[in-house]
Amino acid sequence: MKIAKTLEEFLRLRSTYSQKRVSFVPTMGNLHQGHLSLIKQAKQHSDIVISSIFVNPAQFAPHEDFDKYPRTFETDIEKLNLNKVDLLFAPKNINELYPANFLTRVYLTPSTLANPLRNSRNSGNWLEEQPESLRRPGFFDGVATVLTKLFNIVRPNVVVFGQKDAIQCIVVKQLVRDLNFVDINVLVAEIERESNGLAMSSRNQYLSELEKKHFGPLLYGSLRETQRKFAEIRGFEKKNAKEIVKFCFAQLEERFCKAIREVKPGKSENFAIEYVSLCDNETGQVFGALLNEKHKEFKEGRSEIIQSCNDMNLSIVVRVNGTRLLDNVLLKRI
Ligand code: AMP
Repeated sequence: MKIAKTLEEFLRLRSTYSQKRVSFVPTMGNLHQGHLSLIKQAKQHSDIVISSIFVNPAQFAPHEDFDKYPRTFETDIEKLNLNKVDLLFAPKNINELYPANFLTRVYLTPSTLANPLRNSRNSGNWLEEQPESLRRPGFFDGVATVLTKLFNIVRPNVVVFGQKDAIQCIVVKQLVRDLNFVDINVLVAEIERESNGLAMSSRNQYLSELEKKHFGPLLYGSLRETQRKFAEIRGFEKKNAKEIVKFCFAQLEERFCKAIREVKPGKSENFAIEYVSLCDNETGQVFGALLNEKHKEFKEGRSEIIQSCNDMNLSIVVRVNGTRLLDNVLLKRI
């Protein structure tokens, strides 16, 4: 595998593949089986696989874990080599992507800004209702900004993202459509999990072994149980969104209480459900969500469940001793 640590070096190496079909897997490093499954999928769709490792400061809020985000460059390189990645872009410092005079960013979220399109009605911004966007203001702008830059630099034909970050996948497809990355085909790879069901994530290493054991299974367990509940409902309508979201929340609470009793009795303030949310997996339109800080109030989404919605996405985020864990499943409408 060739490694480029500067933009100049990367562009020189990239030019040697000008006639090839190129796929691209962007990452923030600390690679695990989830990342590697994306690379395997990328290989099946191209001649050349390019990956990147860059912990993107633009997507971290000041209070978030940018400084302590795990950086494991040497072992990452071993894994990428074993998986036969052709070229890695790993900027050696932030200036390679954000030089001192950097100014232009991509924004998806604010509706308060005047609509720049003349004569167009504002049809509503689905991202504004997404709890993931509400909980992490500016996060998707940071993601969209760095991906726009990376897509322009790498010029891939195929990009592969993980369903683990379901809302991010919808944002990436929106970005590719909106900004006319006409040569890019977006692929989404399934979630890789530990044997106990915990979705693999670089942030899992913030958890102790005890926390992994007791809290690891409860996210996927709750989602699976809700999938079973969903399967019992015939002719799913908007009113059922509330039922499903509340059911999932109750599942999480019940399992949390049990795990807390087992691990750290009396310390429940360190464990919290951030939200449970149901949306259209294609458009991102929210049908309903339950945000914990709103006193567990169910918030109905603007969107109706319509016939054309095939897959719904049930997303959850919980915090275990400060570590943010997210997971999701599809609820398939038949
Ligand atoms: P990150 O390094 O966290 O930015 O993730 C890079 C890519 O890997 C993103 O497209 C993620 O969605 C994907 N990814 C992370 N965890 C998993 C997983 N457990 N299974 C599949 N893909 C994943």
